Amino acid sequence: MGAGSDTQARALRGLPAVHELARALDAPHALAVAAARRAIDEARAAALAGTSLDGGGAGLDRDLLERARELLAELNRPSLERVINATGVIVHTNLGRAPLSASARKAVARAAEGYANLELDLNTGERGTRHAHVDSLLCELTGAQAAMVVNNGAGAVLLAAAALAGRGRPIVVSRGQLVEIGGGFRIPEVIAQSGARLVEVGTTNRTRLADYEEALAAVGGEPGAILRVHPSNFRAVGFVEDVSIDALCALGPPVIDDIGSGVLADASGLPALAEEPPIKRSIAAGAALVCCSGDKLLGGPQAGLLVGRADAVAAARKHPLARALRIDKLSLAALEATLVAYRDPERARREIPVLAMLDAPEEKLAALAERLREAIGPAAEIVRASGKVGGGALPMLELEGPVVALRTEADPAAVAQALRFATPPVIGRIHDGRVLLDPRTMTHTELEPAARAVRSALAATPTQ
Ligand SMILES: *Cc1c(COP(=O)(O)O)cnc(C)c1O
Repeated sequence: MGAGSDTQARALRGLPAVHELARALDAPHALAVAAARRAIDEARAAALAGTSLDGGGAGLDRDLLERARELLAELNRPSLERVINATGVIVHTNLGRAPLSASARKAVARAAEGYANLELDLNTGERGTRHAHVDSLLCELTGAQAAMVVNNGAGAVLLAAAALAGRGRPIVVSRGQLVEIGGGFRIPEVIAQSGARLVEVGTTNRTRLADYEEALAAVGGEPGAILRVHPSNFRAVGFVEDVSIDALCALGPPVIDDIGSGVLADASGLPALAEEPPIKRSIAAGAALVCCSGDKLLGGPQAGLLVGRADAVAAARKHPLARALRIDKLSLAALEATLVAYRDPERARREIPVLAMLDAPEEKLAALAERLREAIGPAAEIVRASGKVGGGALPMLELEGPVVALRTEADPAAVAQALRFATPPVIGRIHDGRVLLDPRTMTHTELEPAARAVRSALAATPTQ
């Protein structure tokens, strides 16, 4: 036996029992035991690998205790936490899509604190419906006859198809719209789940009115529905043709219009939004049900909106899936507060973060970038770059502006990782081998913590 294995044996012998180390931690028993066990497992692995420091001495090794406390802090850290979005992607699906407005956040806190009249009609004292809190507001804002909300956009489309074309009835869709939106949301699969029978018309790039007419004549019997799907996250260009919502609505059968993002804002003040289909437009055309998300360009909580004709909304509300897809009171509170802001288009653009970020003036972005650059120090410089809206909306739009680029010899992926390990984590983007921090998706109060995270990430990342 060499000297190496002597040290190893001593290091292993010196490890305390799990309960001994756990006793020294100030935490509930099970948590203390978990942290102690991990710390000891790590120390044992290090000893066996011959990389442990020889703590020795009497009592608990200070390094081991320190490590157990670190592990305890990690175990205590919430899994879902606030992060700083420095990607410049406004509706970032992995980062929770739309951040909520101040009034929406307050509404959530109010609804969470005690009880709420979620399904109680305060006038009569009888059972009410949760849809009552937003349906008249949605009708007022869109011109629809009726409205309801479910827990997300995918749910809204599933419910619409099931309610208007379920039980084997035909649903007519253009082959150019049998799309995948992301996260496994594929139109043919959603239709299969709804129980409707998919009738494909046209081709990938061209579908004409006559294609729909022929298909409808051929299916005969119960009409079912026509489904139109907005190509949210891609654009087909070149030799393409599709049928307008007005022409589809004139065909007769109820039209389900899945518009994806759902623009409720007045596009005149926000030219960037002109590329996305407004809810109002489809309602005016006569769509039976218009479906959209609450947390994309609408800028509210995760939710699915169904607005349209009274008979179609009534069918959706009565369908058994409506119960399975119902929206919770916290999201409903946030949605109501978000929708209220839309009564005044100017207020909506100012207060709803997604709209404010889309509309951010160059001077504001430049000021934020400059403050961030200064707070980071000499490792930062300002360059121009373009960001994206994200969340499967406005795929062609490039949002150009000033961003902070990090000047370092370190591997950009390692710097980005160190930034993700910060408290709070900072999520940047890598472009052309550099880490970029985009102020468009950051608030004033996030600049200082982001700069702190950058300084320690750069200090901790070895240069190549
Ligand atoms: C995003 C999107 C959906 C799904 O909405 P979620 O809110 O993500 O569930 C459905 N259809 C289209 C066209 C979309 O863009």
